[in-house]
Amino acid sequence: MSIALDLDHASHPARASAPARRSLVGLSKPKLREALAGIGLDEREAKMRASQLWNWVYFHGVTDFERMTNIQKGVRQTLADHFLLDRPEIVSEQVSIDGTRKWLFRFRDPQNPRLPPVEIETVYIPEEDRGTLCVSSQVGCTLTCSFCHTGTQTLVRNLTAGEILGQILMARERLGDFPAGQRPADGGLVPSGETRAITNIVMMGMGEPLYNYDSVKDALLIAQAEDGISLSKRRITLSTSGVVPQIEPAGREIGVMLAISLHAVRDDLRDMLVPINRKYPLKALIQACRDYPGLSNARRITFEYVMLRDINDSDADARELVRLLSGIPAKINLIPFNPWPGTNYDCSSSARIEKFADIVNRAGYASPVRTPRGRDIFAACGQLKSETERLRKKDREALAGV
Ligand code: SAH
Ligand code: SF4
Repeated sequence: MSIALDLDHASHPARASAPARRSLVGLSKPKLREALAGIGLDEREAKMRASQLWNWVYFHGVTDFERMTNIQKGVRQTLADHFLLDRPEIVSEQVSIDGTRKWLFRFRDPQNPRLPPVEIETVYIPEEDRGTLCVSSQVGCTLTCSFCHTGTQTLVRNLTAGEILGQILMARERLGDFPAGQRPADGGLVPSGETRAITNIVMMGMGEPLYNYDSVKDALLIAQAEDGISLSKRRITLSTSGVVPQIEPAGREIGVMLAISLHAVRDDLRDMLVPINRKYPLKALIQACRDYPGLSNARRITFEYVMLRDINDSDADARELVRLLSGIPAKINLIPFNPWPGTNYDCSSSARIEKFADIVNRAGYASPVRTPRGRDIFAACGQLKSETERLRKKDREALAGV
């Protein structure tokens, strides 16, 4: 059974009538100080207020300047006159029979609130030992991997760092992860041995994170910062379909765990399944993986491999996979294909997946088969999509007043 809640839209602060105020969510500390200096705070005060704001926004989860009790009333008012601490609007929240939650979030364009809002999906997957939030980086995707539902949605736009963080902050609030927060009534969400529901973040929602590099980088650095959300970079994974030139910078500048959507071990097949392969073929991709900064047995790369019946699931494919990855500290994640309306693919049989996993295991690789989660609410890998469509250029310009 799944339930869908329709939550109150009216209370959202980022309404079209407040276009002049700028959001502070997603600004790095130096940019936050700059924004505060821009409204007349001197250097010393800007620095102090930036630290206080950071703590209120990311640690306490506060969205209203009035609640920032260690900031004088007059300053709180000035901040509220100039800035927003906005969050996405929740269009719907669905809970799967297996406890997976999916939110449809709505954002307005921060640059131009007159443009129609965009919608994206974010998923929370509770497990025994961890709670993973699957975060989106783009509305739609420019890439067209043939087995992926998101790939059928043309890219509408990149999300900003604030919108990427907004998903995390809103999920933390709904799951009761802030210090003064309320856990959901169904409870039982905090994994054993942990203090909060969200222990891990994966950039595996809608979009290709390395095609929105700057915003993803800003957001993930903020998610790691100690006096805020404070998630270790080992608990954050960025998944890419293989944007080779951005892989090294991601390791060096963001430092999170890397996952590669491999899905095929021969160029001819990968060209069809993951078309970015035509631009960055397997040889270049595998070399970028070998060169990934910080790679070691303790920090392995995860290779995702979707199991498609009679397409990429033979014993020969499994053996070639092992050969291709030899020498790379790797985990292989076998993902049973999740169907979506209109797809021509089928999932491999359980027996086939087991045989494939066995070959990979015998070669010394951990190869867990990812249990599909939230299929009943269309929250599983590759099933995410929203209704937002790209406007025609003419309409966009008219709305933007160009
Ligand atoms: N764009 C990035 C992030 C998305 S991650 C990337 O491609 O890596 C989502 C993961 O689910 C990717 O490994 C993707 O290839 C995989 N996936 C896509 N469609 C799927 C489907 N229908 N069933 C199972 N996995 C799928
Ligand atoms: Fe985009 Fe990733 Fe889906 Fe490919 S698998 S279409 S890169 S979201």
